[in-house]
Amino acid sequence: MRLTVLGCAGTFPGPASPCSGYLLEHEGFRLLIDLGSGALGQLQRHVGLLDVDAIYISHLHADHCIDLVAYSYARCYHPEGMAPALPVYGPAGTAKRILHSYEAPPLHGLEDVYDFREVPPGTREIGPFTVTAVRVNHPVECHGLRVEAGGRSLVYSADTGESDALVGLARDCDLFLCEASWLHAGDNPPDIHLSGRQAGEHAARAGVRRLLLTHVVAWTDPQEVLAEAVEVSGCPTELASCGATYAV
Ligand SMILES: [Zn+2]
Repeated sequence: MRLTVLGCAGTFPGPASPCSGYLLEHEGFRLLIDLGSGALGQLQRHVGLLDVDAIYISHLHADHCIDLVAYSYARCYHPEGMAPALPVYGPAGTAKRILHSYEAPPLHGLEDVYDFREVPPGTREIGPFTVTAVRVNHPVECHGLRVEAGGRSLVYSADTGESDALVGLARDCDLFLCEASWLHAGDNPPDIHLSGRQAGEHAARAGVRRLLLTHVVAWTDPQEVLAEAVEVSGCPTELASCGATYAV
């Protein structure tokens, strides 16, 4: 499978990248994971505006989901006609959150644009992908995802503080796309995000083959985050880069 980073800035868009958005392709199927602020623009640098087969939203913080509102206009009012309803997987409350962001009170339900599928953690098939979701350690329901296809595996941490569930999910995976929002410090708030060092520790505990750091917040020096992770990860480790494509 192939991963393209549409956005990897943490919390708010940075000068070099929109917020979270990842395009996963395999056998012609295109799965978007998260669609945060600005990621829709980047999508169009890589595939046609309508050439998406499914979306999985990890959680309902705006930096991971809010471009679903913008994308609804693109699918609803496209000059070639309204696109078929697009499956959108996400945690409980996904439909309500997006509908109320679109307009309040919601008059037009967007049901013709999106086929909302609110799902609990668990394993399901999405196109050629087997997708396993576990709840990670964040203030709202947030799904870490393991995506498998063609004998390869990618694990996405989504947003999380330290999480044994994430270590289990990432066990022996080929590519671990892990958040590293900030630098390690004793006074970081717990149960929200990982530091570079903690991302590296999770990678080492899970025995992953390759670590890709993402969700670095723009006021944090990414090279320092990378240095923290490299020290402990025990595997090839790099920073995710907006627009970059990775063979998994
Ligand atoms: Zn979040």
